[in-house]
Amino acid sequence: MNIRTNSARFLSDLHHLRSFGVCGTGVVRPAFSDADIAARKWLAGRVAEAGLQPEIDAIGNVFGVHPAQKSLLLGSHTDSQPEGGWLDGAFGVISALEVARASLEGNGPPVSVVSFQDEEGRFGGVGGSEVWTGARSLSDADQRVDSDGIPLGVARQAMAGMVTSQVDPARFTGFIEAHIEQGPELDLAGQSIGVVTAIVGFRQIDFVFEGRQNHAGTTMMATRRDAFQGLVTFTAAINDKLGDLVTPTTVWTVGHVLVHPNAASIVPGRVEFSVQWRDAKAELLEQMAQVIRDTAQETAVQCGLSVEAGVMAEIAPVPVDTDLRRALIDSAEERAPDRWREMPSGALHDASNVARVLPIGMLFVPSIGGISHALDEDTHKSDLLTGLEVLAGAVARLHPK
Ligand SMILES: [Zn+2]
Repeated sequence: MNIRTNSARFLSDLHHLRSFGVCGTGVVRPAFSDADIAARKWLAGRVAEAGLQPEIDAIGNVFGVHPAQKSLLLGSHTDSQPEGGWLDGAFGVISALEVARASLEGNGPPVSVVSFQDEEGRFGGVGGSEVWTGARSLSDADQRVDSDGIPLGVARQAMAGMVTSQVDPARFTGFIEAHIEQGPELDLAGQSIGVVTAIVGFRQIDFVFEGRQNHAGTTMMATRRDAFQGLVTFTAAINDKLGDLVTPTTVWTVGHVLVHPNAASIVPGRVEFSVQWRDAKAELLEQMAQVIRDTAQETAVQCGLSVEAGVMAEIAPVPVDTDLRRALIDSAEERAPDRWREMPSGALHDASNVARVLPIGMLFVPSIGGISHALDEDTHKSDLLTGLEVLAGAVARLHPK
């Protein structure tokens, strides 16, 4: 079985979507802006023309549902950052539309399409998929406010006349999200396709080192209990120890630092800092937590400080479904041999939420220069088309006829 996609039609729709909120080469299309609503209306029309049932739920997610009892769901989001690129989310939605349309034309497997609302976080991030999967109630989401203090419950009234009905996740057998990488790896490697192995998890602990605040002129070096020097010692030590433990895609960051009293002539008596780390493997995240906690204790002893650790914040890694991943790998190997790789997703996506209710898979195409969340974000046309074909090939594999 083959799904014959139409690349001219795909590119034409992708460029048409850019016209909503176009700004230079990018877009300004935040959730529930006039441009976002117009784009959602257009998309609902496009899925209807393709022969899918358009449905818009209360939070503004747009679906094109295949009439079959069960179908595979493809898609992403069409809202943008306050200044966003033209492909972030849009590539996943329009490739979904083209695969669903081509499959209907060729009497292929049933495919449905979705554009989730507010992935980019005007009201907090991946909000449309969060409500659709039941992780947050609509009434709870309605209380969230944007940076101007407008509640979601008020903003979504602008789409109230377009709402049809809720779409039951049980209609679908799985979800594949195609997306731009938003990082430099594929571009640097000269590759066209990334098959996602997992969406990385995240942990964070906020620490406080307490020493002795004192005079920077009269306090001898040997007797100082300098909290900032403690942080420097700690940071060097974790870089050293974690380096032996992790993989090349593991990341950790000391990103928030408050030195007290932050004055040139005072030995700092207190430093507050965050340590955050991300990886696709829960076991590794746990091992790293142990190293980070132990090192904070050792540093405190070594530098004559006391240490306090806050409660660890945690988002678990999201595994990718084995069958969906296999189909994407086989399709990539066929259509882009030597030009694909497996890789974790370092960014959160709607698929992270959808994983609560459906098996998920993800596919990346390269971002030129690794640039995203910027007006000049772009991907080579040939890579967009390879991504479309690999997606179609994976869908055909999942439903052999
Ligand atoms: Zn996105």
